[in-house]
Amino acid sequence: SFKALVLEQDDAGKTLAEVRDLTVSDLPEGDVTVRVSHSSINYKDGLAVTGKGKIVRKFPMVPGIDFAGTVVESDSPDYQPGDAVVLTGWGVGERYWGGLAGMARVKSEWLVPLPEGLDVVGAMAIGTAGFTAMLCVMALEEAGVVPDDGPVLVTGASGGVGSMAVALLAKAGFEVAAVTGRPENEAWLRELGATQIVPREELTEPARPLESEKWGGAVDTVGGQILANVLASVRYGKAVAACGLAGGIDLPATVFPFILRGIRLQGVDSVMCPKPMREKAWARLARDLSADQLSEVAERISLEQVPQVAEDILKGQVRGRVIVDL
Ligand code: NAP
Repeated sequence: SFKALVLEQDDAGKTLAEVRDLTVSDLPEGDVTVRVSHSSINYKDGLAVTGKGKIVRKFPMVPGIDFAGTVVESDSPDYQPGDAVVLTGWGVGERYWGGLAGMARVKSEWLVPLPEGLDVVGAMAIGTAGFTAMLCVMALEEAGVVPDDGPVLVTGASGGVGSMAVALLAKAGFEVAAVTGRPENEAWLRELGATQIVPREELTEPARPLESEKWGGAVDTVGGQILANVLASVRYGKAVAACGLAGGIDLPATVFPFILRGIRLQGVDSVMCPKPMREKAWARLARDLSADQLSEVAERISLEQVPQVAEDILKGQVRGRVIVDL
């Protein structure tokens, strides 16, 4: 048997989370069975485990939108027992049982072989957050943003996606301006590669539709008024990669940055991201992030600690990444 976090819903619609012992026969169908060694806590896991967001589509559910581990059984020609794999997204931990369990059974198409240069711990230090940050950096590059365009702004910089974006942008040669509501994280953010810290308060009040052009590009993880303000201060012809909603789902913006400055707002989704782009992103993550950097951003917790950390991440109290040891 193995331990799993199991979510149930009571009659009042409240989500209940409990660590239980399950056996392999409890697992859903799939062509590959994986011994999960590590999962991680992302904002979406916080929403799922607390029930504060409508993430879970059916109960009982094993949450956990990502995991890394070793194949133990495979009906797929693509994977053999012993292969190290990583999974993010595809509705795992939402529609399908996820990574917060000692074992998982999934569709082989959802897996990515662990890229060379990464171990399972490193893969979950990165997790969905780091993978998404990489997709954001790739989106900016694709839009023609280069280091000479000036500093790239990262919002929600102390969070999982934000901190990984800071490190990845710095590695790619960009100057990085980190927006944070937690000034106590300044030294840590500078260590990750930020060259400038922008207090969150400077971006929370409605700005003018067009402000002075400051940023060569931006990675936004918070949405809401902050994203609207970021759009108003990105340089002519440049781009913003938007992937998050930690500050709100609205976008109180005007069309001026688009029609007068030709800027691009590029949405980024990690869940349904096609496989070739996944493999490209993971290969670059393995290349660009050192083991030291990864241990600097990530803390480790047990399965029993997940419900508490799920509450913390929604309050914006988690710094960097949280790895769950299984
Ligand atoms: P996280 O670790 O909680 O990071 C979010 C960060 O945003 C916080 O650390 C905080 O940073 C800042 N923040 C929190 N509340 C805020 C508020 N009210 N106003 C402004 N800033 C606030 O979460 P995450 O796992 O990195 O995810 C970040 C966001 O990206 C979430 O919305 C998540 O759903 C989304 N996401 C999307 C995808 C996708 O595929 N599109 C994938 C992964 C994540 P500071 O304390 O430094 O200000």
